[in-house]
Amino acid sequence: MSNPQPTASPDDARSTRVAIVGAGPIGLELAVALRRCGIEFELFDAGSIGNTISWWAPQTRWFSSNERIAIAGVPLLTSDQTKATREQYLTYLRGVATQFEIRVHTHCPVVNITRDEQNSGQGSGRFAVTTKPGGRPTVWSAEAVVLAIGGTDFPKKLGIPGEDLPHVDGYLRETHRYFGRNVLIIGGRNSAIEAALRLHHAGANVSLSYRGSELPEDHIKYWLLPEIKGLLAAGRIADFTGTLPVQISSECVQLKSIDDGSIAEVKADDVLSLIGYEQDKTLMRTAGIELSESMQRPTYDENTMQTNVPGIYIAGTATAGTQSSKYKTFLENCHDHVDKIVAHLSGRHIDSAPLQYRDQIMTQPES
Ligand SMILES: Cc1cc2nc3c(=O)[nH]c(=O)nc-3n(C[C@H](O)[C@H](O)[C@H](O)COP(=O)(O)OP(=O)(O)OC[C@H]3O[C@@H](n4cnc5c(N)ncnc54)[C@H](O)[C@@H]3O)c2cc1C
Repeated sequence: MSNPQPTASPDDARSTRVAIVGAGPIGLELAVALRRCGIEFELFDAGSIGNTISWWAPQTRWFSSNERIAIAGVPLLTSDQTKATREQYLTYLRGVATQFEIRVHTHCPVVNITRDEQNSGQGSGRFAVTTKPGGRPTVWSAEAVVLAIGGTDFPKKLGIPGEDLPHVDGYLRETHRYFGRNVLIIGGRNSAIEAALRLHHAGANVSLSYRGSELPEDHIKYWLLPEIKGLLAAGRIADFTGTLPVQISSECVQLKSIDDGSIAEVKADDVLSLIGYEQDKTLMRTAGIELSESMQRPTYDENTMQTNVPGIYIAGTATAGTQSSKYKTFLENCHDHVDKIVAHLSGRHIDSAPLQYRDQIMTQPES
């Protein structure tokens, strides 16, 4: 499959008007919008489409309603009307790409973005976008670049001895593998709480360490809270709120009390450190995008999504940088980025989000 619009640019087989970096939901939604406007593009992803969602644990459900995470106006339906699982959503993304004949360069990381001096004429700057499919550098020339690269590239580090041991993980895997094992979960927000509940029900012996003296209730989905509180109170999930992990060995983890500094040793065959994720800033830095001093967020114009580098745009959760405390930027409140970029590139207005939810999406994210 190809993205078969005519190319009006230099005499280079690898030339396009817009290079979209990231084939998550927002990158794909943008590709469909550009296709509808007849704007030529190429879409690259370091992994498969929906790469971020593909590392969620099997059968994880979205917190958002299906209407809010549907893209390009294509309904996302589930046979039992519940919120979509990771698997259903990845299937949906493949369906959207197929329906609109979007060619995605998968497993094709973009590793560098510079000015394309060779192909830039007077007053018309272009970019050289270097990709590395299979480790082979390949350069595309593009008039504009959109970074839809998300913000969850690496699990955050604990910064303690032992965290690189093989049984320490920043991702919840297939729950079956934890059956009958001692699992220590570090963290107290949604991912950690959901993992604790799922692994408890999957037959693991779960302990939960959280650094605050109480669970952060306003960071936990209201339907998870009563169950986790009940299981902790009953001692069915071992409660180590008010502790900080200080050292991990192959058999146990030392947890230090935030009250009196005393150390507890917790046996752990597996340690899940679910304390959030960090954005990889490398590409933004090489492209010359300014990052805000305090939060290291990319700088951009909220009306057009154009960054401080004219011709380079940013879209989706990538705009928020590394979200450190309560996440505020989600797929469900990023659909308008697509509209703004298309409007700026084409001079046309387009609505990408499902219409009946458009107003609510802007003001009240559900997640
Ligand atoms: C367990 C869990 C549950 C969640 N539930 C919800 C929810 O209910 N609702 C919600 O709105 N959000 C939820 N999120 C957040 C959700 O992941 C994002 O909202 C959504 O994926 C953002 O879409 P995006 O297109 O902006 O970025 P992403 O989906 O992160 O896509 C970015 C893409 O860019 C690619 N990429 C990055 N760097 C490069 C590069 N250099 N070259 C090429 N490709 C690159 C990545 O491989 C990835 O495919 C959840 C997250 C987690 C972890």
